Amino acid sequence: MRIDKEDRINAEKPNELDMRTEGDEPQNLLVQWDLEHVWHPFTQANEWEADGPPLVVESAEGVELVDIHGNRYLDGISSLWTNVHGHRHPTIDTAVREQLDRVAHTTLLGLASKPSVLLARRLIEVVRRSLKSGVDDPLSRVFYSDSGSTAVEVALKQAFQCQQQRGETKRTRFAALDQAYHGDTIGSVSVGGIPLFHQVYRPMLFDAVRIPSPERADPEVEASCLQQARRLFDEHGEELAALIVEPLVQGASGMRMHSPHFLRELLELARSHGALIIVDEVATGFGRTGTMFAMEQVDFYPDFLCMAKGLTGGYAPLAATITRESVYEAFRGEPGSARAFFHGHTFTGNALACAAALASLRVFEEEEVMSDVAANMEALSIALSGLPDVVFGERRQTGVMAAVEVRFANSRNCRIGHRVCMAARSHGVVVRPLGDWVVFMPALAMHVDQIGRLVQSVGDAALAVKAAMEAGS
Ligand code: PMP
Repeated sequence: MRIDKEDRINAEKPNELDMRTEGDEPQNLLVQWDLEHVWHPFTQANEWEADGPPLVVESAEGVELVDIHGNRYLDGISSLWTNVHGHRHPTIDTAVREQLDRVAHTTLLGLASKPSVLLARRLIEVVRRSLKSGVDDPLSRVFYSDSGSTAVEVALKQAFQCQQQRGETKRTRFAALDQAYHGDTIGSVSVGGIPLFHQVYRPMLFDAVRIPSPERADPEVEASCLQQARRLFDEHGEELAALIVEPLVQGASGMRMHSPHFLRELLELARSHGALIIVDEVATGFGRTGTMFAMEQVDFYPDFLCMAKGLTGGYAPLAATITRESVYEAFRGEPGSARAFFHGHTFTGNALACAAALASLRVFEEEEVMSDVAANMEALSIALSGLPDVVFGERRQTGVMAAVEVRFANSRNCRIGHRVCMAARSHGVVVRPLGDWVVFMPALAMHVDQIGRLVQSVGDAALAVKAAMEAGS
């Protein structure tokens, strides 16, 4: 159904607004009200409207989304890289319902709460098991917030204040990789390096030391990036509060990937110049790279670990910034002194979200989720290599994070990634593009057969788009 402009204008007149709300709205009104009232993230309104009626999700089951017409779609991006064990997993559903029978939310300002305490304890256990332990000052403190952006914002502020309170007052800057993405708040955008997303805000951002990042794990390119990093650290090392990285995969920039060796060298270099190390595992955490955390493959112990997205199994907005006891110690002082960390979001440590996260971690263990990931990685790899070369160029994959480049004659500069993803819906899958790349980020719960079907459907969609373009439509 197409909503034309006149319909929208008519519905805008206040006395003609249909005030029916939940439950009794015809499907076409949902579409109309979306077009009239919802401002969608990372979305150009002209394109959203031109694309026709939006897909309105009503429910989900496992790795399938169900729209208001009852159509089912494989969720190929696990609801923006969040869903881990499938939608409506009975263990997590039950945990959230049981928590609801106790309390939905209480504050962590001045009070503790049972689910947030239990989750902190559990997270420390899980992180220590994944990352190499045996260090004197392991990750031990959990600061909760509610999104990947806030997890990063917290880490940046904690690192900055920690350095200041340790007397390192010249350490006021951050280093970050070129093409980095760390979220959408001002601090996280400042360390971001994707011109399309970040350039317009430059005048309101702080300036980061920008380290060249390899596009793929090519030893020569990585060596050259490291050489430039050495020069930058020689010049700016004493000014740095911290270095922040997305370990192994720079997701939002189009799945740029580097080797564990490159990352280890870079992090060691930064540490040798006195910078604290922040790893942003918002996208890579909870199994996505084949290990519970990407840093498990790097053999380097960070000072801060940021997590969000998959923390609750993809159920609720919850994030955690985990740091070492020595960082926590730098904030001690007299009661009422300015040494505390003056930061805390209203819904910090939300009880329902913590209950979901605890249940998700239980599922990881009870269902031995990580032992199946290798099979999923292989299925994804086989499926990607089977994609038709007439429409696809480079393939990138680490763990179950992957992207393929759509490339054929005349495919440039025509929003080809977007067109293929829209066409994929009529093949029963939901995926999203990053420029000319189509991203695949199946939930860990996606069965190998479904992974094959997901990728093949995108291949069929790309062939159909190519044929339509050649036919002039
Ligand atoms: N860091 C990374 C590495 C991310 O991929 C993202 C989101 N894609 C964020 C931070 C921001 O997370 P959020 O959207 O939850 O704020």
